[in-house]
Amino acid sequence: MTNARIKPDAGNPLIGVLGGGQLGRFLVNTAREWDIRLSILDPDPEAPAGRVAHRFQVGNLLDYETVIEFARDLDILTVEIENVNADALEAIEARIPVRPSSQILRMVQDKGLQKEFYRKNGIPTSEFLLIAGKLELPESPERYPAILKLRRGGYDGRGVTRINSPAECPNGFDMPSVLEELVPIEKEISVIVSRNSKGQTAAYPSVEMVFNSDHVLDYQVAPADVSVEVEAESKRIALDLAEILKLEGILAVEMFITKSGKILVNEIAPRPHNSGHSTIEGNRTSQYEQHLRMLLGYPPGPTDLIQPHGLLNVLGSGAGEPVVHGMPEALAIPGVHVHLYGKAMSKQGRKMGHVTVLADDRAILLDRLNQLRTLRVGPV
Ligand code: ADP
Repeated sequence: MTNARIKPDAGNPLIGVLGGGQLGRFLVNTAREWDIRLSILDPDPEAPAGRVAHRFQVGNLLDYETVIEFARDLDILTVEIENVNADALEAIEARIPVRPSSQILRMVQDKGLQKEFYRKNGIPTSEFLLIAGKLELPESPERYPAILKLRRGGYDGRGVTRINSPAECPNGFDMPSVLEELVPIEKEISVIVSRNSKGQTAAYPSVEMVFNSDHVLDYQVAPADVSVEVEAESKRIALDLAEILKLEGILAVEMFITKSGKILVNEIAPRPHNSGHSTIEGNRTSQYEQHLRMLLGYPPGPTDLIQPHGLLNVLGSGAGEPVVHGMPEALAIPGVHVHLYGKAMSKQGRKMGHVTVLADDRAILLDRLNQLRTLRVGPV
């Protein structure tokens, strides 16, 4: 099915966004600078983007009728989360541009389809096996240790588990899953690329992501500490993906650099991404502006670094009233920018905001990120 095109004289379009989290909130902030109206749909009446959007509707992103009704008077529809009703998007894209397309979203929603897509298109990725549930886990000991992932619905490391031996197979999921070989990871990086309807593309410098033992992001820095060759090759792979997908928008490509220097694609997200938050202060064009440029068929903006930068999530430190602790200390550190998402309640470990810090010297950058760990949001 061909998508409807954006008219060059679209004037002041009304852009719908499925999802109203922090990514949607930053998209709204950017759209305001161009006097572009954003309409947000999110199930949470207190959604961070809902408070700042031109229009906000509370509703279930997975409900066909809700999404169809939401899109009734929109000029363009986009997403800030993948878990949305793809059938509704397919119906809507016969009438208005839907970016990313329902076809891309269907593939990305399922880690099994993603892996098959990489294999079919010669994109390097780890070896894998698709199974219907844990009873289908292979019994041969040489398959382990391995990583088991739910095909659908996992995020931020939830729905990912390590199986060390056949004896641990009962710990697997009772749902369709992907069994992946355990990659000897040296580094995890993300490259964000963009492409518009004219086929114009751009790639951001790679971002290095450092995870804690629970597979949750600890901090990230840009540029990643990788060789010139790895930097060039990872950008090439990410741009290849954008081209194969005929993407109109932005795409975050998460990759593993193995101990032997190989690059393997882990997963992709066809929308603004957490790894791109620090492009707001750290790069000449933020990922949010780049996404809007691509949606509207405008040329991509320059992606170069303004200065090396790092990012730390500001996490909830308990359940209750979201009171910010450590703000004066954080703001005393040079090169710091604090972003708080306005979430109504804090929960232990919940992402309540993030802080970006800029510094030319990497050791200074890491030291400043460390000092910022005292910044938290939670009950007094
Ligand atoms: P999510 O979508 O929940 O973020 P990921 O697929 O990104 O899940 O996996 C979360 C983390 O688990 C990765 O960032 C990486 O640290 C680790 N991981 C995932 N796949 C593998 C693998 N095949 N080998 C080794 N570690 C992996």
